[in-house]
Amino acid sequence: MATISLLGVPWDKQSSQHRGAAEAPPLIRQSLRAESSNSWCENGVDFNTLQVFDRGDLPLTGGTTEALQEIEAAVETELGQGHRVLSLGGDHAVTYPILRAYARRYPDLSLLHIDAHPDIYDDFEGNRYSHACPFARIMEEGLVKRLVQIGIRTMTAHQRAQVERYGVEVFEMKDWRDDQPLDFDSPLYLSFDIDGLDPAFAPGVSHPEPGGLSTRQALSIIQRISSPIVGADLVEYNPRMDPSRVTARVCAKLLKEIAAQMSIH
Ligand code: MN
Ligand code: MN
Repeated sequence: MATISLLGVPWDKQSSQHRGAAEAPPLIRQSLRAESSNSWCENGVDFNTLQVFDRGDLPLTGGTTEALQEIEAAVETELGQGHRVLSLGGDHAVTYPILRAYARRYPDLSLLHIDAHPDIYDDFEGNRYSHACPFARIMEEGLVKRLVQIGIRTMTAHQRAQVERYGVEVFEMKDWRDDQPLDFDSPLYLSFDIDGLDPAFAPGVSHPEPGGLSTRQALSIIQRISSPIVGADLVEYNPRMDPSRVTARVCAKLLKEIAAQMSIH
């Protein structure tokens, strides 16, 4: 069974509007252990029997350059010890340094990205490390062999040109069908932006965008992936926008089901 390192990445300094995603990791952990639910995954395996090891939260006290290096190095360390990384929190800017570490170990990585937003701006208001840009950095550095996006419903003309330029396979939400085949022929990394879900299901995000996936649709996508998921992140959960804590519960559910899927092959 694969060993999974749970890594909190409390970094939201690249958010273009609201801070708060840095506060996500402890709330997701707390929700995972809430006594109002149990620890069993839907595939019949108890989460507590999975080889999941909590590495705590990265300190990330410095500036952008230091944070990018620190995130990449921490992921590199876990991969070097043979673990898969499931990271919690932060805004979507964290995915670029994570993928830099992954690309060295997995040269033929496929990337599945669930999000309301394509996050592929060349720069956002002059900032190339904004949470609106990670997939531009990943594609220009050739860190993955394939990028597939699901849930997109905010495509701008510039981002459409970027998608064309980098050969990204986009399933816009308006065209999504639940029976869409998803075939990956190489190890897969899953980057899950919580705002890919409809705000009716997950209101606690910085950029709520109506017309998204239901929690069930997202779980079904995860559960029918047949290639090994070698890494994943859950980003953009913003506890400051989540007074009822319902979104924390959704994140914990996704964490459990992603971990179950990462463990089976
Ligand atoms: Mn995003
Ligand atoms: Mn988003």
